Amino acid sequence: MTATLIDGKAFAVRVRAKVADHVTRLREEHGITPGLAVVLVGEDPASQVYVRSKGKQTVEVGMASFEHKLDVDTTEADLLALIAKLNADPEVHGILVQLPLPAHLDSDLVINSIDPAKDVDGFHISNVGLLGTGQKSMVPCTPLGCLMMLRDHHGSLSGMNAVVVGRSNIVGKPMAQLLLGESCTVTIAHSRTKDLAEVCRRADILVAAVGRPKMIPGDWVKPGATVIDVGINRVAGAEGKTRLVGDADFTSCAEVAGAITPVPGGVGPMTIACLLANTVTACCRANGLAEPEGLTA
Ligand code: NDP
Repeated sequence: MTATLIDGKAFAVRVRAKVADHVTRLREEHGITPGLAVVLVGEDPASQVYVRSKGKQTVEVGMASFEHKLDVDTTEADLLALIAKLNADPEVHGILVQLPLPAHLDSDLVINSIDPAKDVDGFHISNVGLLGTGQKSMVPCTPLGCLMMLRDHHGSLSGMNAVVVGRSNIVGKPMAQLLLGESCTVTIAHSRTKDLAEVCRRADILVAAVGRPKMIPGDWVKPGATVIDVGINRVAGAEGKTRLVGDADFTSCAEVAGAITPVPGGVGPMTIACLLANTVTACCRANGLAEPEGLTA
């Protein structure tokens, strides 16, 4: 392996420490405790794991965690009523509705019912618009984590060619907006892109957010490029166990790239760290206080 490893796990520890520092200051100097409400509808096992982990890390940095677990057959009206209550609750600074929601619930309607100032996932249409027009917004956690690691590794990203493979609303599109905001020349690739290998080879920064195990081989990577692997794919491992792999083929990409994030231990840990960062940012904004430096886009 020749690439530098971008250690998201270690970076996330630093982000959480910064968040915890700021939380302490908010409590000691202003008597305010940032609060994050997480709403889970149904019993999807992966969602339950994520929600548990979010709640645990929220408490560890000194914030208040409010978990709302609702039955799988909760009506839209009941869910919207809960969100209205959380919107009005001054102790709640961030609201996250765990996705995916059961099929009978309209995700867009639900997400857009969250007060944009408390939308710590950054999925509300107002935040999407603010990000797209370069204004202060709540930034989706996964792309924010990627941006933090890229800035830390490169300093300025200005003028770099960035290719984002994947155009989802939660990763690909906001990632592209953030890179554009850093003055990269941005290409967004997707399942209909022609000659994807050639497009990827132009990238100084290659972000893979596809959801296909090891789809990007080393010979799609420009020598010296930085590869940010967002993919989390569970595949069969040794002895009947499963293991996680990314969208990039780590072994071959690491031979060519200048830097690369591993899976696991790259983008994943940064996502929850950025959720905590967004909650403390939302709390500061709600109270007219200075935001912590380096925790926003
Ligand atoms: P989506 O399924 O919503 O989007 C996948 C994107 O990849 C689509 O835009 C799709 O194109 C594109 N795509 C699919 N197949 C190909 C292909 N063969 N060639 C080029 N593009 C292709 O996924 P998400 O954005 O939600 O997630 C992407 C990955 O990131 C997943 O592995 C997910 O688990 C992971 N993830 C990780 C997070 C973390 O914290 N690390 C957080 C969120 C997601 P099209 O639009 O044309 O269909």
